[in-house]
Amino acid sequence: MDYRRAGKSGILLPAISLGLWHNFGDVDSLARSKDKLHYAFDHGITHFDLANNYGPSAGSAEETFGKIMKTSFAPYRDELFVSTKAGHDMWPGPYGTWGSRKHLTASLNQSLKRMNLDYVDIFYSHRYDPETPLEETLQTLVDIVRQGKALYVGISKYPPEAARKAYAYLKDHDVICLLYQGRYNLLNREPEEQGILQQAAENGSGFVAFSPLAQGLLTNRYLKGIPEDSRIARGGFLKKEALTEDLLQKIIRLDRLACERGQSLAEMSLAWLLAHPLVTSVIVGASSVEQLADNLKALENISFSQEEQQTIQAILQ
Ligand code: NDP
Repeated sequence: MDYRRAGKSGILLPAISLGLWHNFGDVDSLARSKDKLHYAFDHGITHFDLANNYGPSAGSAEETFGKIMKTSFAPYRDELFVSTKAGHDMWPGPYGTWGSRKHLTASLNQSLKRMNLDYVDIFYSHRYDPETPLEETLQTLVDIVRQGKALYVGISKYPPEAARKAYAYLKDHDVICLLYQGRYNLLNREPEEQGILQQAAENGSGFVAFSPLAQGLLTNRYLKGIPEDSRIARGGFLKKEALTEDLLQKIIRLDRLACERGQSLAEMSLAWLLAHPLVTSVIVGASSVEQLADNLKALENISFSQEEQQTIQAILQ
């Protein structure tokens, strides 16, 4: 595993981390979840990314992780870097979502119980809340660190102006904003276009990319239709409308380039992100050990010739 420093901190993260948003809920087999988590850790993936509402059902991915924590990972707690988040809809009523002190505190307490952990390594504000004063959210993050419930904090999907305030507030309170977590992949360049990567670096934070495979679109999954066991077919955030004919043609061309490089499309898509010096880690999802194994192979070649970069740009414009 290639370990990369998160911003200007003391923390090294694996270039490839595993996310538990999908594929680890109570609708998934516990045995398969266990196999993937073991395979990941055995191959140097020390960072597992969770959130209160991951599943489905909400909370069940943390419960799955908690079971594995108890039965196999407990002796290795200090070799793991575990994250959770709060801010999206979790339980009914006004305190089950967004960025209030009430929501973040209660949610983290619940997460720790579900995961069988005394503390998380990083706790994120999952999204910017335009209604709650930002100081309330940020002071709660500070207090969570002071209480020892998280070692570091992070922000996810914050617009640049809110991120600027967050970096400054946390710095003023001597709390390390370890990571900015944002959607970044070949099809979504917002972190470059909005200066988010640069801003994180300037504030000493690392950047971790979520949905690096665009939920599976940037793989060979949909080259020949929509497989029954795929994320699109299972229903959820990735809708079949996302797979337009135009996009499919682009994916087919990207797949051809990946083939020429001796990689799968998933490998090339991850390699492209990992070639960026400001990307600390890519947080992949995987519905099987085979996918995880394929994704890890991305690390074997993360360099791109100028010609390859130009071909990619030409395909995606
Ligand atoms: P990806 O973009 O990596 O998509 C994962 C899906 O891609 C898999 O479920 C699988 O689809 C397919 N796939 C993965 N590897 C391969 C492969 N080698 N070959 C073929 N298909 C493959 O990531 P996610 O969208 O799952 O997000 C990853 C993580 O990022 C989440 O688990 C979460 O931790 C984090 N995240 C954070 C968010 C935030 O708001 N901060 C939002 C979203 C995600 P299939 O299931 O069809 O087999």
